[in-house]
Amino acid sequence: MKQIVKQIPMLDLKLEYGYMKSDIDDAIRACLDHQHWILGPEVKALEEKIAQYISADHCVGVSSGTDALVLSLRALAIKLKGQEYFDKNDEIITTSFTFTATGDAILRAGATPVFVDIDLKTYNIDPSQIRDYLKQNSTKVVGIIPVHLYGQSCQMDEIMAIADEFDLFVVEDVAQAFGGMWKNKKLGSIGATGCFSFFPSKNLGAFGDGGMISTNDDNLAELIRMLLKHGGKDKYNVDHIGYNARLDTLQAAVLQAKLMYIDEFNDRRRAIAVIYNKELAAIDSLALPADSGEYHVYHQYTIALKDGERDNLQNFLKEQGISSMIYYPFPLNRMKVFNDRFETYNSLANSELASTSVLSLPIEPLQDKETTDRIIKAIRSYFD
Ligand SMILES: *Cc1c(COP(=O)(O)O)cnc(C)c1O
Repeated sequence: MKQIVKQIPMLDLKLEYGYMKSDIDDAIRACLDHQHWILGPEVKALEEKIAQYISADHCVGVSSGTDALVLSLRALAIKLKGQEYFDKNDEIITTSFTFTATGDAILRAGATPVFVDIDLKTYNIDPSQIRDYLKQNSTKVVGIIPVHLYGQSCQMDEIMAIADEFDLFVVEDVAQAFGGMWKNKKLGSIGATGCFSFFPSKNLGAFGDGGMISTNDDNLAELIRMLLKHGGKDKYNVDHIGYNARLDTLQAAVLQAKLMYIDEFNDRRRAIAVIYNKELAAIDSLALPADSGEYHVYHQYTIALKDGERDNLQNFLKEQGISSMIYYPFPLNRMKVFNDRFETYNSLANSELASTSVLSLPIEPLQDKETTDRIIKAIRSYFD
């Protein structure tokens, strides 16, 4: 008889809810009592708490991480160019190894994405590739969107130095790195804006969609606040082409409760990563996440395998009841939506290689040692 083994999920949101149930239930109940659903008091309170947490002058709640990116770029077009959208001639440099939304937001803001390659050690955008592109084609580039992939900071000193030198804005995509740091700075507090996602599976996740924009620029904050509610200070007399992109009150309530646990949960993720790092180090054909020495929040714990083996290991783990995920199976330059709509300079060989070799392992913050050990054992047995 086949033994029934417990499936190990990537994340266990039911378990997390149980852990903080009374805080979350109280927060939701407070909303039920006040019935102030649109931009209720929880939204403002969450904005203030997160602004304080990351040391930013302003935080503005929005409806998703994607909208955080789109609204940031739209506000920058209005501020820098005095027009509603960027032009096709305006280029924004980003990585081809990210979630679709990063590149899509650039298109939706009217600009052209420039995809440059990643550093294979961290999977983050390679600053030397940004510089190389700018040496050849600096006149059209208006900005850079570094993505702190898997919870690990990009090389922000170098990226900010390049931005300074070429007079570019930087919009940080912090969708995967709430609480992550570059040196002593919280991610999202370094660029012109920081764009956060509260998609339920993100390391700070809501019970639905949600997002946040951080900025130290009063003008951008004001513009973003207009854009998220139809484009004006007065809803019935608007200035800009706006959106209905507000952060929901209920989501803000849930997020306030979950925010109390974020440092603990990020530390728990880091502790699981330490175990994986130690116990998988002896397997030569595995590339483990590089430790850049920064506060990495391990939104994902991602290993890489030599060509062809990745899918075999994933299937092997699946047979053992162990979930794993591929972030991302296609670099943006391969997607139809970006066909003929992006620029590039060098090859995107590292992004291509990463898309065929990476595999993210379960890293539920409340995952017990036994579960982590079972995953490690299974991976070791694959290579035996
Ligand atoms: C999740 C994610 C987004 C989009 O966030 P949503 O809240 O799902 O719209 C953007 N960029 C990256 C890198 C992401 O991981």
